[in-house]
Amino acid sequence: LSSQNQHSKIITVPAKTSEIPAESAGKLFLDKIKTHNRDAVALHEIKTGISCTYGDLITKSTNFAINLQRTLGVVQNDNVAIFAENSHKFWIATLACLYLAVPFHLLNPEFTIYELKRYLMMSDPKVVICQKQAVSNVQSLRNECTFIKSIVHYSDDGVGDKDVVSFKDLLKENPNVSFEPEKVTDINDRVAYMINSSGTSGLPKGVMIPHATLRTNISHYMDPNLCPYHSDNVLLHVLRFQHILAFTINFSAIYGGNKIVMADPSSSPQKFIESIEKHKISQMFIVPIIVDYLATHPLVDQYDMSSVKEISSGGSLLPSAIHNKILKKFRIKAVRQVYGTTELGIAVFISPPGSVVTESCGKATPGTSVKIIDINTGELLGSNQRGEIYVKATSMKGYIKDPENTRAAFDADGFYRTGDVGYYDEDLNFYIVDRLTDIIKYESRQVPPAELEDILLKHPAIKDVAVVGKPDRKGEVAVAFVIKKKGVEVGEKEIVEFVKNFVTEEKWLHGGVRFVENIPRNQIGKISRKDLRKLLKEELK
Ligand code: AMP
Repeated sequence: LSSQNQHSKIITVPAKTSEIPAESAGKLFLDKIKTHNRDAVALHEIKTGISCTYGDLITKSTNFAINLQRTLGVVQNDNVAIFAENSHKFWIATLACLYLAVPFHLLNPEFTIYELKRYLMMSDPKVVICQKQAVSNVQSLRNECTFIKSIVHYSDDGVGDKDVVSFKDLLKENPNVSFEPEKVTDINDRVAYMINSSGTSGLPKGVMIPHATLRTNISHYMDPNLCPYHSDNVLLHVLRFQHILAFTINFSAIYGGNKIVMADPSSSPQKFIESIEKHKISQMFIVPIIVDYLATHPLVDQYDMSSVKEISSGGSLLPSAIHNKILKKFRIKAVRQVYGTTELGIAVFISPPGSVVTESCGKATPGTSVKIIDINTGELLGSNQRGEIYVKATSMKGYIKDPENTRAAFDADGFYRTGDVGYYDEDLNFYIVDRLTDIIKYESRQVPPAELEDILLKHPAIKDVAVVGKPDRKGEVAVAFVIKKKGVEVGEKEIVEFVKNFVTEEKWLHGGVRFVENIPRNQIGKISRKDLRKLLKEELK
């Protein structure tokens, strides 16, 4: 896959996008899905049993786009926020926005009001699309978020408010209106969608991904050297579409004409596992915790898993013990790894089909340049030398309303600093060995420590606090080191419960609280998380 410029030590793989027109993601997508069999199922929901064919998807997404413009007055330069669970409606809404070249912000449907406000204030959406039960949360923020003009909810019936419309209203036919996706000439610059990340440090951020990066996602998915592409591929999908891996894989798979079976992340194990046999699933892109689940769950032995030809894992390191366990349960030779970051918006490394090196997260993908930089000296390193991984690719345009962090994310040559420590071997296989950034990964989902520290400092009994991740079966769990105020009493349970008022489950203090007398900081007052992580590792001994 990769070629290396030995002189520069920078590994560069030429892009393979030339066969795909330099058009907006919406135009590329609509042109392509019109070539698929209209009667073939594109999306199937396990929870409801609803299936959506390619024909339905074309009709509904184009009607939705026309009605966003005509009924809700969405125009260029407006933003939309999509705040809803995995379903075929998610794709109708996102595709409609892509056709209009109106950027949409993907928000976690489980967000608390506190989190929702933070993210809505980033992207100022004119329209918020959410589930019916979330409407009241969005309504409660309307005095502060005056940019919201309409709320669209997933249900078919109304809620008795003229600014709240049902999804069904936006599907109505427009018989005399012809529809063409909006033309976008500057695909490297125009934002297609926004997705959240904790960045390497600090508070959560909104990442702006341009149309060109979605074009790269498509080119990777359609490249038989990266993804043995079968037009009859059936994917089982369980991650939330608000995660970059989930969003980009599914977008590309629908583009490719595949069938996607959607499990809800809260689906019962029985439904999830039986759907593999029932729908003859051939491929899954999952995170290590789900690989582990499939490798160990007793129900797996009661169903026929022989349809599964490929399992790929991304989002965090796949321990070799889990890798080996799953090979005993499924008729596959290896689990392929995918490595990427939200900011890069693409898979940077993928294990080549047929030659997976266990422990390696794969080889550099087309359209990327990768270099390893010595953490202390800034020197460019060669093979088998550990340093920070820097990547140049189509990537993000930047963080929303945050030029300072955007500048800091890239070096002078336009390489994104991943914050991951790794190396490559003589065959150009890449390995991740450590992380320099503050981010905690719980079930491969991001937990920004600074956000939790910000919340914990609101507690009247807390004088100072530092949050770090402790290694756990779920990846890492957040632990708070707390200095109490003098003369005030507070217990661990109260603090753990306090955090639950503000944030979603993945950000709770699953690792508990440690009361301490001081928190190690460096000369400029920055928390020395390395020392705290060391303390937690010692607890495990
Ligand atoms: P996210 O932006 O949530 O995708 O998180 C990106 C981070 O997840 C990377 O910087 C890595 O630390 C980690 N990561 C993603 N994929 C892998 C992988 N295959 N192996 C090891 N770490 C990974």
